[in-house]
Amino acid sequence: MSTQRRQRRIAIVGAGPGGLTLARVLHVHGIPSTVYELDTSATARDQGGTLDLDEESGQRALLHAGLLEEFRPLSRPEGGELRLLGKDADVGFHIPPPQDGDGNHRPEIDRRVLKELLLGSLPEGTVRWGQKVKAVAIGAAGRPTLTLADGTTVAADVLVGADGAWSRVRPLLSDADPVYTGVSFVDGLLNDVDTRHPAVAELVGRGSMFALADEKGLFAQRNGGGRIRVYIAVKTPEEWSRSALNDPADPAATRKRLLDLFPDWDEGLRALIADSDGPLVHRPIHALPTGHRWDRVPGVTLLGDAAHLMSPFAGAGANLAMLDGAELALALAAHDDPETALNAYETAMFPRAEAAATQSAAHLVDFFQPDALRILRDAFTTMTAGGADR
Ligand SMILES: Cc1cc2nc3c(=O)[nH]c(=O)nc-3n(C[C@H](O)[C@H](O)[C@H](O)COP(=O)(O)OP(=O)(O)OC[C@H]3O[C@@H](n4cnc5c(N)ncnc54)[C@H](O)[C@@H]3O)c2cc1C
Repeated sequence: MSTQRRQRRIAIVGAGPGGLTLARVLHVHGIPSTVYELDTSATARDQGGTLDLDEESGQRALLHAGLLEEFRPLSRPEGGELRLLGKDADVGFHIPPPQDGDGNHRPEIDRRVLKELLLGSLPEGTVRWGQKVKAVAIGAAGRPTLTLADGTTVAADVLVGADGAWSRVRPLLSDADPVYTGVSFVDGLLNDVDTRHPAVAELVGRGSMFALADEKGLFAQRNGGGRIRVYIAVKTPEEWSRSALNDPADPAATRKRLLDLFPDWDEGLRALIADSDGPLVHRPIHALPTGHRWDRVPGVTLLGDAAHLMSPFAGAGANLAMLDGAELALALAAHDDPETALNAYETAMFPRAEAAATQSAAHLVDFFQPDALRILRDAFTTMTAGGADR
């Protein structure tokens, strides 16, 4: 490793799965970096639900990070169970929980646990918490600079926007903005389900459950710690979603409005809304244009959602963010000239992201078709090629 590569100043904005994987793989190759993160700590907010890490992306990134073996005992292979239900709660398709040796290629891990794994593998002080990046620019010497909320300015040799959907770094490279997909989620959480909500626990099983009908969905997933997270998904104009489903001051009113959207659904399914314990979090789903890319700006690039935000219907966003982070680090470790590294990274990342975004946009349409249950059942049947109960 040349001194030149070790002495480069690498600034990463955002300590999500992508930014942390980048910092970790750089560290494995002896290259220091600094991650600027607006959250005040790793536990400042709920990190969200569970992720299934794909062998070809999320797990490959962990391999490059030297963390794959540590990941395995933290993961939940049984989370591979899948149930597809209609609004009457009849099971239309079922993949049972993988047994030992079944070879589940996408084991689940809670986002919080994944974040702890990545953070614990970084040298102290790599992540600067509570450092919101307010602005970015190309400085007089042609170096990217970022301005923090306290007014401090930092110059970097390489600036990476790993700062998610509403990236502050992206405008240096591209005019694209995320566009509302026509679908809104509201997230709910049920705690201690085996004791407090046994019927819901039974309905959802050990992994994921998708109930689909009437161009709506209730998507539930088992999280660690005896919790079930539910995404209540509706096709709706953004204005209505923002006014009707986003009332943190009055969760009871939001809950009632949501229940009114599912009037004739089985009571067991409606319990996912009625019995949720945590706050109901409004989450309109946005996406960047499929095939989003940019011309090279010296020293600056993007990864993960900042580069290719897509709807969650392909289950790929965090996996891709991690692979982006790993591959960018490998490119920076392989080349003295940062431009050669950034170019190599983007050349591989753009088509990969475009393929996943195309798939995710198609899945979004499928999930809200009048016969969504049949479409998904056929898709999963093809994928599993007869290995599930039907
Ligand atoms: C409901 C839902 C379900 C999903 N399910 C899955 C799934 O099952 N599998 C999957 O692979 N993907 C899933 N995704 C997608 C996944 O969550 C994202 O693709 C992934 O988190 C992107 O990682 P990232 O590191 O690029 O960005 P993020 O995770 O968004 O991290 C960005 C970080 O940057 C920080 N930040 C933002 N702005 C600034 C600033 N100005 N200054 C400093 N810090 C800043 C943020 O605080 C955050 O920590 C889902 C998404 C949603 C909405």
